[in-house]
Amino acid sequence: MRKVILISSCLLLGLPCCKNSTKLKNKNTDLESRWVKDPHSYAKPEEAAVTSLDLRLDVSFESKKLNGTAIWTYSATDSARNIIFDVRNLEIISVTDGDTTALAYELGAVDPILGQPLKIDISGKPKYIEIRYFTTDSSDALQWLTPDQTAGKKSPFLYTQSEAILARTWIPCQDSPGIKFTYSAKVNTPPGNMAIMSAENPQEKVPSGLYDEFKQTKPIPAYLMALAVGDIEFKATGPRTGIYAEPSMVDTAAWEFAETEKMIVAAEKLYGPYAWGRYDILVLPPSFPFGGMENPNLTFATPTVLAGDRSLTALIAHELAHSWSGNLVTNATWNDFWLNEGFTVYFERRIMESLYGTSYTDMLSCLGYGDLELTMNDLFETGDSADAKLKLNLEGRNPDDGMTDLAYEKGYMFLLLMEKTVGREKWDPFVKKYFDEFKFKSMTTEKFVDYIYANLFAKGSEEDKKINMNAWIYGPGLPAGFSEPSSDRFNKVKQQANQYLTGKLKVEKIDTSKWTSHEYQQFLRSIKQEVKLNQMQELDNRFHFTNSGNSEILVLWLEASAIHEYKPAYPAIKKFLFSVGRRKFLVPLYGALIDNPNLAMMGRQIYTGARKNYHSVSVRTLDEKMAIVPIVSVVE
Ligand SMILES: [Zn+2]
Repeated sequence: MRKVILISSCLLLGLPCCKNSTKLKNKNTDLESRWVKDPHSYAKPEEAAVTSLDLRLDVSFESKKLNGTAIWTYSATDSARNIIFDVRNLEIISVTDGDTTALAYELGAVDPILGQPLKIDISGKPKYIEIRYFTTDSSDALQWLTPDQTAGKKSPFLYTQSEAILARTWIPCQDSPGIKFTYSAKVNTPPGNMAIMSAENPQEKVPSGLYDEFKQTKPIPAYLMALAVGDIEFKATGPRTGIYAEPSMVDTAAWEFAETEKMIVAAEKLYGPYAWGRYDILVLPPSFPFGGMENPNLTFATPTVLAGDRSLTALIAHELAHSWSGNLVTNATWNDFWLNEGFTVYFERRIMESLYGTSYTDMLSCLGYGDLELTMNDLFETGDSADAKLKLNLEGRNPDDGMTDLAYEKGYMFLLLMEKTVGREKWDPFVKKYFDEFKFKSMTTEKFVDYIYANLFAKGSEEDKKINMNAWIYGPGLPAGFSEPSSDRFNKVKQQANQYLTGKLKVEKIDTSKWTSHEYQQFLRSIKQEVKLNQMQELDNRFHFTNSGNSEILVLWLEASAIHEYKPAYPAIKKFLFSVGRRKFLVPLYGALIDNPNLAMMGRQIYTGARKNYHSVSVRTLDEKMAIVPIVSVVE
């Protein structure tokens, strides 16, 4: 709040106000009604909002910088004197009207989370706003990988991660999920590289390295701006689907994700046509901090889902589902994040159900619920129970800190309860209509509740009383009487795990004949805390967990190894932490190391060495985690 007040009182550009006219009033009303206050952006879209971007970037791997020109068009009220952009750690060179006329601008005070407001004088009503700039070493969206941090080891690699508020670290923009714009871009790279974006993309390398035909014709928010540059190849997997990856990974990835077209067909059958044209997947080097990022037209994915048996492709269903929930209908602010993620998890499981049946999705729901329980325990233990609500209040904080599993899994359970209460025959047309009616727009939690009352069930109705939206949205944790997901397949696994732990079942008698990788995950979750060291040895002898190629299984096993000091797995722990940067895996594995007094030092040493391999998103989380735990093994 303090920063916002500071900015609004900073130097005005000395120009007279326009007179109020009827026309102006109408225009103002139109503009104002579209916007909600976003605590994570300095922009004042009710006065002036961007509508399209023409972006030019020169990529230098030598200096690890982008030399950028962002040419914006915008729409403003007649009385608007300024347009405000968000920037963080950018070096601004000049601001002009797209021609030769310089526009006066001012950079406000630096806020460590939000960055700075870039306030530009538009009193002369320039048609364009052209901002020339350089990124810096602190442009946190960018990760510049050296050749040996890639699979091929020969060429450097660059990728971006803009969600939640990092777009402003590589493009001066109005970085609010409620503000959408179209874009085109030209990206100049050193020859031998391919550049791809969240847009229409090339499928072959251009010898000169200049890629000048990027187009995103659908309006998107800034957090969906994305770029990757490197030794990238393309391989088609269907008429509108394909894989981009480093050459050594492209065939493996194309096999793993061969069912993507089937997923799109299943999704369209549920909730209407896929709106974006092509759907491609970029498989990144292993440092990528997330499982996936739903960049339009081009999902960014971690290579840790390449299990060799297509068992972790729910991630693709998830990112694909975002093409409706999130990318078409977008949370208006990060406080409404559950609208993006809860809907997407719900939709993801509906896609997986269409393809693989309910017993499969029951397992996914149970695994998700297990994650939710851990997150809630953490939140209630640390006293952050406000973050255990669906509607968040992230003002004054980095939104990334409050965006937990809760938005995903509690959001999913809430939507599932609505589905079960009203029945699919009523629920599915409702969701389809919702996506269609609000496509290319943004949504708040409050507006969503109103929409339910107007279109699904009436306020005060039996359904309303049964669901109790208030408790789900504004109450912490899970409301009384919620129903916990269950899976027959997992119940059988848990039974065997218990018998094994208590010595009633010999290791060779564990019946895995019908197990998928999900059952193995559940088995390891069930035994992780209580398994004995000699049992770990015999399990490893039989199942070779230390060498598992399935990252979900491997991480659970390595975690158990850190808890119980199973030494044969130590080299694998080190290798994994040095090569993988996915935050979901790093947090529990480093957690298990530093929570064990005998291994805390080893954990710190590995972190010190491996930290440079991680994206800033993971580093920020882990720096905090590693610092708050006291060093138990003090060196005298
Ligand atoms: Zn998601």
